[in-house]
Amino acid sequence: MKRFTLLLSTLFMIMTLASCTDKNKAAVNPFFEEWDTPFGVPPFDRIEAAHYMPAFERAMSTHLAEIDAITANADEPTFENTVAAYDDAGRMLSEVSLVFEMVCSADMTPELQAVEERIMPRLSSHRDRIMLDGKLFERVKAVYDRRETLCPDADALRLTEKLYRSFVNAGAELDDAKKERLKQINEELSATSVKYGNNLLAENNAFVLEIDDPADLEGLPVSARETAAETAERMDRSGKWVFTLHKPSLIPFLTYSARRELREKLYTAYLGRAAHGDEHDNRALVNDFIRLRTEKARLLGFDSYAHYVTSEQMSGSPEAVYELLDAVWTPALERAKGELAEMETLFKRDFPDSEFASWDWWYYAEKLRKQNYSLDEEMLRPYFSLENAKNGIFFLANRLYGVTFRPIVAPVYNDECYVYEVIDADRSHLGVLYFDFFPRDGKSGGAWCGYFREQSYKDGERVAPVVGIVCNFTRPTQSTPALLTVDEVETLFHEFGHALHFLFHDVRYRGLSDVEGDFVELPSQIMENWAMQPQMLEHYATHYRNKEVIPQKLVDKLRRSTLFNQGFTTTELVAAALSDMDIHSQTSYEQFDVEAFEKWSMRDKRGLIPQIEPRYRYPYFSHIFDGGYSAGYYFYIWAEVLDKDAFQAFVESGNLFDRKTAQRFRHLLERGGADDGRKLYHDFRGADPDRRAMLLARGLAEPEPESEEEPAPQADTNPSATVAEEFE
Ligand SMILES: [Zn+2]
Repeated sequence: MKRFTLLLSTLFMIMTLASCTDKNKAAVNPFFEEWDTPFGVPPFDRIEAAHYMPAFERAMSTHLAEIDAITANADEPTFENTVAAYDDAGRMLSEVSLVFEMVCSADMTPELQAVEERIMPRLSSHRDRIMLDGKLFERVKAVYDRRETLCPDADALRLTEKLYRSFVNAGAELDDAKKERLKQINEELSATSVKYGNNLLAENNAFVLEIDDPADLEGLPVSARETAAETAERMDRSGKWVFTLHKPSLIPFLTYSARRELREKLYTAYLGRAAHGDEHDNRALVNDFIRLRTEKARLLGFDSYAHYVTSEQMSGSPEAVYELLDAVWTPALERAKGELAEMETLFKRDFPDSEFASWDWWYYAEKLRKQNYSLDEEMLRPYFSLENAKNGIFFLANRLYGVTFRPIVAPVYNDECYVYEVIDADRSHLGVLYFDFFPRDGKSGGAWCGYFREQSYKDGERVAPVVGIVCNFTRPTQSTPALLTVDEVETLFHEFGHALHFLFHDVRYRGLSDVEGDFVELPSQIMENWAMQPQMLEHYATHYRNKEVIPQKLVDKLRRSTLFNQGFTTTELVAAALSDMDIHSQTSYEQFDVEAFEKWSMRDKRGLIPQIEPRYRYPYFSHIFDGGYSAGYYFYIWAEVLDKDAFQAFVESGNLFDRKTAQRFRHLLERGGADDGRKLYHDFRGADPDRRAMLLARGLAEPEPESEEEPAPQADTNPSATVAEEFE
């Protein structure tokens, strides 16, 4: 309460001061103006937290007026006056929401948090007001029923069908009492989601491991020590070392710290987030989510929330999802048990009387890797500076698609952002790309890619998207630039794949832009396949000091070790996907103990060994609760079947940078959701996806005995290397 009063009075002060000097500037909300920034990017330098609420208000009422104009139309419903008009409505709301959501995830402040808490339930009821508007649905249905005659072309037909289904799935066919209940559920769900996210954000920053005694740094590489010392300095704890629950701090500690009890302390804190029985506990909220989502699914005629979600995916049903997950689960767990057995030999030498625990896995895996492949992650880091990795993705995009990247000066929401213009092979403007690389207190964990402005068409002209990649990578230290782990490099390739997808979008109707959830990760994951290929490494993996290309010996070691620890990685991933499917497959709700449910789903039913934790536990499984992946964590592995098989198209062409194959893939990217995923994939590959490439890549299937070593694909010899000077 106090904070709020203070905030108001400060704002009042700022506004009064500003009004003395420049009355108009302070009074104008940037969302109420045309943006005269480079390429029309959001004027972040002028947007303040106080601008969002009035902007949302105006955007929502404009949207409602647009919808009213559709329903008030006395003419017979047509594709143009109903479906296309609906598709065009709400542009301002989309503009405000996109900017707001992106900034909230990357740069949260208490002021933004307050706006978020107020606006999320409002947005949910706004959406319901439209989706449950009987008159509007009547018109949409009228077009849908005569779609074969009313729709001018295939895109129009698909848009009509998609729109009709989205109305039905949002409850348009329910009676009034059920509609009312659905509105309440949606509002409650969005409030729950905001609370869950804010609790987690607080919990991510609530615990730190402080080390006073240098002896407790045993085993840690210089980079981890330096980062920890600098973190301590930023927290006014100079002379000490601070490790946090953010991945760039946590993972190196678990991998290298020789102090077992400290590894335990840090990992236990990580696992226990948002489950301490205090005001940031998410366990009751998990119950709320499941109660509300199950009721919602049943209202809409589905057996469970998982049925509801999968009905609109490539998979089509929970059964299809379980079929894939189970096929991976058993061999992955077997492989992980084998890995554990190897590590236990090393472990027992150190601790003959103790049991191997989950906080030991990273440490002994690293030891084993050194022993079996003489490969140490720290040997690789110097070749993977952030700058190099960035050059790598730009190089790849240039070789495949001929696009280039030009740094530009444009408004940013945080000074740590970099901005590039993305230019197509024919020199036309494709869009704008923001990068925001390092962890901050106001930033959510993980990495993601989204957009501040969607690609659309306005008056027949393509409106180019403004895309943002946000990561939590290892920071530079005073003595070195940001040196990434292999995992971080692959993450950058991954997010960049999403960015290319958005940037290439050339979709006529806004309602056709989204793809199925289990298709979303194809464009991103396919890029990871290139990251560690020798033909790529020779172009971007150079030592940050002497610029020497990564030695062949290291590349060979890296190659030989690709299957190393895959049992663990796969088990951890599929465990999370299964625990998500299980919790969302409940057909009726009864209050449950969150930990007991996890134990039943993972340990009792599937035999997950105690030395491995699912990648996420329910109190901090952001993807499935406050993210967009409810009953959808499986999307990653589903899409991996697609991406591994799709990459084979490049391998089979004999050239990893084959322009013709890339051209076909670009077509798939450009279409967005204008066709369904199965068709898009089939058009690209000429066949349905084959699961085998994924199983092989994870070491879960035997290579065919007669197949000889395939000749390594050659890079083409005539690169159009216009890329270097563009982004150096
Ligand atoms: Zn992704």
